[in-house]
Amino acid sequence: MTDTLAPAAQATASFLTDGATSVLDDAKRQLAAAIDILGYDDGLHAMLAVPRREMTVGVPLRRDDGTQQVFIGHRVQHSLTRGPAKGGVRYSPHVTLDEVRALAMWMTWKCALLDVPYGGAKGGVALDPAALSMSELERLTRRFTTEILPIIGPERDIPAPDIGTDERVMAWMLDTYSVASGYTVPGVVTGKPLALGGSRGRASATSRGVVHVALRALEHVAVPASGRTAAVQGFGKVGRDAAKFLTDADISVVAISDQYGAVYNGAGLNILDLADHVDKTGRVVGFSAAEALPPHELLELDVDLLVPAAVESVITVENAPRVRASVIVEGANGPTSTAADEILARNGALVVPDILANAGGVVVSYFEWVQGNQAYWWNAQDVEDRLSEKMSRAWDDVVSTARIRGLTLRAAAMVLAVERVADAHLLRGLYP
Ligand code: GLU
Repeated sequence: MTDTLAPAAQATASFLTDGATSVLDDAKRQLAAAIDILGYDDGLHAMLAVPRREMTVGVPLRRDDGTQQVFIGHRVQHSLTRGPAKGGVRYSPHVTLDEVRALAMWMTWKCALLDVPYGGAKGGVALDPAALSMSELERLTRRFTTEILPIIGPERDIPAPDIGTDERVMAWMLDTYSVASGYTVPGVVTGKPLALGGSRGRASATSRGVVHVALRALEHVAVPASGRTAAVQGFGKVGRDAAKFLTDADISVVAISDQYGAVYNGAGLNILDLADHVDKTGRVVGFSAAEALPPHELLELDVDLLVPAAVESVITVENAPRVRASVIVEGANGPTSTAADEILARNGALVVPDILANAGGVVVSYFEWVQGNQAYWWNAQDVEDRLSEKMSRAWDDVVSTARIRGLTLRAAAMVLAVERVADAHLLRGLYP
């Protein structure tokens, strides 16, 4: 009973249960399931559930027309146990503190699962980047960076791109932090432009990792190599290159959507032509070599592989019973709700969880940080080979844990990740 707890315990209890949006609820449920399997006590559970540090800031912006507006931004450091906090910054109208908390927690598990020496963090500003001019975006980014400056840094917390941000935003963050420091600090962000110490292969790394595990998963469920089909939700940082790499692997991508609509071609979409069309018009709909498809139908197509690579909570209890793909590879963070996950498992679909499937981005962020620390840059093939090696090892670890413990891939991935963070925490001990 909460009312019998001491104030500090009450605070912890409310953090675990109150005011949660569904995406944070899902993240907490996934953690609770892993804690249960691992047999950890409530104290360790609370340690892993509650973020170490959170910062919410008002970000004032002078608009081009001279008026002033204030946006709300957050940076949440869920864990610092295995190394500096690590995770992207998102610019989207849907950003909330609870969403950022969930995304930060997932970064902790992702970094642990891929065995990169980081904790987990996430940041976000609630705004529509398309509604700002380039100079407004720059001013906003510089002010947000200044506000969170006390808690970021190459050894503290290292931001990277996420939805609505890109290498140009990272360059402004790097510059703002460096001006405040009095010298250039390339390690403060990853996903930087190559000219500022970025890594080869970083921009396409998440997509490369998605396709790497998708091929392993199709093999795992014995989908024959010829005539494989896929649908990809999202044509942004992850979906666009994932669709391209899937077609390179002879998988026919029959449907693709973006935030405005979806297109379908049963004979396979020409991804390079579609990309040209999107570069010209800003959206997939209207592509002449395809027919329009109601976007919600994309998730329910009769394909071998479904790649949700857009936003959270798109596979829900409502549409999960109609999902027909045998393999679902989560290119986005949190695309499947907990209840939907159970339905998919019951229906025999293999879900490759986000913390494994989309980890290629943070893996190459780690490579970028390592290259920067050594001031020695690798060629594209080095990056690709090392990424494949890390993705393969994580895939093998998850599949063998799932087999040994009789778990879904998500539960197995969570158990491995949570155990690594808990082990590190127990070795360090609780201070004081
Ligand atoms: N935003 C990406 C993610 O969700 C990359 C994070 C990073 O590279 O730090 O994994």
